[in-house]
Amino acid sequence: MFYPICVTCGVQYPAAEEPPAACLICQDERQYIGWEGQQWTTLAALQAGHHNIIKNEENKNKFPLIMGGLLGAAQYEKLADNPGRAMDGMKVQLWAHIVIILFIIMGNVGFFASRRREKREGGSL
Ligand SMILES: [Zn+2]
Repeated sequence: MFYPICVTCGVQYPAAEEPPAACLICQDERQYIGWEGQQWTTLAALQAGHHNIIKNEENKNKFPLIMGGLLGAAQYEKLADNPGRAMDGMKVQLWAHIVIILFIIMGNVGFFASRRREKREGGSL
């Protein structure tokens, strides 16, 4: 028995012998599933690579417990209506993805342009 945690969104599911077939959150059309498909982890595995932070700087009556890293952090900040470093990280990630997509488009345009030029010049592919 273990408590499966979705690697993509960080949601933990009830204890089970086997993880669910899919994450309900990640099946929503607004979410995504990584290239490797649905991945699960455990709290112990997460704790090996992340650390918890307890902050008490602004409000003496609240002790927020924050797990370091971006896993689920942006969703937490969005739900708490408190945009911070994780949501900024998502903006950087978004722009990185846009740049990668532009490079892929440019590569494909270059490939098809060179293929067309070779056909016109009588070359073979
Ligand atoms: Zn998920």
